[in-house]
Amino acid sequence: MNSRLLQNMSRPFTRLLILVFVAWTAVCVGSLFYHLSDDERHIYQLANSVASERIATDQLYRFWAAGHGGVYVPVTETTPPNPFLKNVKERDIIAPSGRRLTLVNPAYMTRQVHELGRTRGVIKGHIFSDRPIRPENAPDEWEKEGLAVLADGKQSEFGQVVMLDGELHYRLIKPLYIEQPCLSCHAAQGYKLGDLRGGLSAAIPLASFRSMERQHLLNGYKHFGTVWLFGCIGLAVAAPYVKRRIREREDATRKMEESEMRFRAIFEGAPDAILLADPETGTLVDANHAAESLLQRTRSELIGLHQSQLHPPEEEDNGRAVFAQHVKQEVSAPTEHNILRKDGTKIPVQIGATVMTLAGRRAIMGVFRDMSRMKQAEEQKEQLEAQLVQSQKIESVGQLAGGIAHDINNMLTPILGYADMLSIGLPAGDPKHVNVKEIVNAANRVKDMSHQLLAFARKQTLEMRPVDLNVVITGFSKMLRRALPESITIKMDLAPSIGTVFADERQFELVILNLAVNARDAMPKGGLLKILTRDAVVAREKTLSRMTICPGRYVLIKVDDIGMGMDSATMSRIFEPFFTTKESGQGTGLGLATVYGIVKQHNGFIDVASEPRQGTTFSLYFPIVEDTIDHGAVAPVRTLLRGSETVLLVEDQPDVLRSVQQLLETLGYRVLTAGNGNAALDVLQGDGASIDILISDVIMPGMNGRELYEILRQTHPAIKVLFLSGYSADVISTHGVLDKGMNVLRKPFSIQDLSEKVRQVLDERRS
Ligand code: ADP
Ligand code: MG
Repeated sequence: MNSRLLQNMSRPFTRLLILVFVAWTAVCVGSLFYHLSDDERHIYQLANSVASERIATDQLYRFWAAGHGGVYVPVTETTPPNPFLKNVKERDIIAPSGRRLTLVNPAYMTRQVHELGRTRGVIKGHIFSDRPIRPENAPDEWEKEGLAVLADGKQSEFGQVVMLDGELHYRLIKPLYIEQPCLSCHAAQGYKLGDLRGGLSAAIPLASFRSMERQHLLNGYKHFGTVWLFGCIGLAVAAPYVKRRIREREDATRKMEESEMRFRAIFEGAPDAILLADPETGTLVDANHAAESLLQRTRSELIGLHQSQLHPPEEEDNGRAVFAQHVKQEVSAPTEHNILRKDGTKIPVQIGATVMTLAGRRAIMGVFRDMSRMKQAEEQKEQLEAQLVQSQKIESVGQLAGGIAHDINNMLTPILGYADMLSIGLPAGDPKHVNVKEIVNAANRVKDMSHQLLAFARKQTLEMRPVDLNVVITGFSKMLRRALPESITIKMDLAPSIGTVFADERQFELVILNLAVNARDAMPKGGLLKILTRDAVVAREKTLSRMTICPGRYVLIKVDDIGMGMDSATMSRIFEPFFTTKESGQGTGLGLATVYGIVKQHNGFIDVASEPRQGTTFSLYFPIVEDTIDHGAVAPVRTLLRGSETVLLVEDQPDVLRSVQQLLETLGYRVLTAGNGNAALDVLQGDGASIDILISDVIMPGMNGRELYEILRQTHPAIKVLFLSGYSADVISTHGVLDKGMNVLRKPFSIQDLSEKVRQVLDERRS
């Protein structure tokens, strides 16, 4: 303990010590004075009793003498015959010896004894009468005064300390009343029984008592001095012990205060809400800051509430029961409840409780942890998991769809090729042209479907370039108008300018078309279709209905209808391929799957909001890129472009090989064919001629298209190459076969597509 603290403590202690000392001394002195004053009274009592005794003895002798009618004594100078008794017949008698005896009355006898006493210096007694016959019987002044006091009969005696013969005396008077024996002599004087006729007095010198008193005083001083001294010694001996005890108590108090302060700090600083309640009554006795903010009530509002009132009414009983279990310490793990805020909102909480002793009283401490955040996070996690499962599902279906589409494309290639050639081979006006057209139309429908499948599977070849989606939408609006019935109003709400995105225009148009067609189907009686474009900034990662969007700048396209909308069960499946709610023949279930695939392939995001009968809004987010746009490109007029160059065509599927060979030959090219890479190299050696262009399938057994091209390039550095793909640039590039920017023609293709692409590749060489 530091010295300052000691000082702080010892100052009041010294003061206390002095106080006790002064009090003790005062008690001793007070007792002494009381004792002394008591002594004085005692002296008087003693003197009084001695005087009373004396007078009583006088009375007794007098009474005895009166009983006998007096006492015979020899006639002497001091006892002559009493002239006042001359009426008494036998006043004077002669003893047989001849000695003269005379009758002495009791008063005379008493006076004689008193005179004797006075001469011997012993007790000073006096008998006196208010009607004295002899002068000696007259009372002195003090006795007169005493007699006057006694006259009313209220006091039996009168005593005082007075000066007598130059000395302090205690004087006492006892009254004398007329008794029967007195009357035998004094009846003639007219005395009556019971009259107050005088008194007996005695004077006791106080000198001897005084010396006794002095002795007492001395003893008193000694006695109280000793007691005082012992008291002081006791105080001196006890002081350090008391001081230690006080210090210990102060220490304990301070420790308790410190621990109370520590508890307060923890209590108030705790991030969880803490409430203290009386375990017997369940009444809240304290609450911390966190509790105030959790429950939105001030501490004073909380204190005095019953713990069950913290819960919503329907949970009060349960709250009470669990509280009782906590009090009995039957529950160890936290329990889950709802609590009611002042504004009526329910908050899920976890409550852990401990029974403890605080400041000597039992209390139950409840720690309330707000679970709403955690619950939210859990829900979000579940949502994300569902999204993941959903996207995995779509991914696997996509792979399947991609595989199917690949095969379809390969098969369509000869169908379309031979149909084109049939058409070319027929004279103009031949009615068979109609049949061929039907074949081409049917094949084209299958081709569209397979392209949709590939788009969904994100396996179609994209032609990405920087575009202004406003321009694309405006250009597409005519086509859109034709696709929708008159009963549907189309409202365009395009931002004056939006960011550039990197996109495949055709695919984007397909997205808008699919959404528009769905809107049309949702509004069979007509309605309003709105298309909106805006720039949008996503500041933080945000959860959309289907996926989580990353922060960044986007072009937002909203396609909004006022149609029948969807319930949540439908909404959860709309992006699945072949999921449709439409009657068979009306929907393929590929529309939104395609939209999904295309948007994902553009690194974009989709959000959908819908309620049954409340319409639907699809929001598409395409990331903005900083590229500039070349608005100058003009679509060329489409005619069959021919050539005479030598083509080396390599394709592992014989029917595809044959059909493409015929198409190329129809276009005027010289065509060498091979079923695989090695065969191609053989053909080249055998021919010896120069090859202008290699047209090759990409994925083939053995050597792939790319490897073949690399080998050919060494002997024919100027050779051009065009790859045919039934698959996608995506897959090809993930297989590491083709580089971006290489020329690829998607299978199936028309003779028109083939003629344009071959010419484009060949002409690149010249420019
Ligand atoms: P399809 O149109 O061939 O049925 P989609 O993939 O385009 O296939 O759509 C799947 C399903 O999503 C539809 O059958 C329909 O139930 C629902 N759907 C899509 N768009 C809308 C819309 N705008 N309003 C209401 N329901 C829609
Ligand atoms: Mg559709």
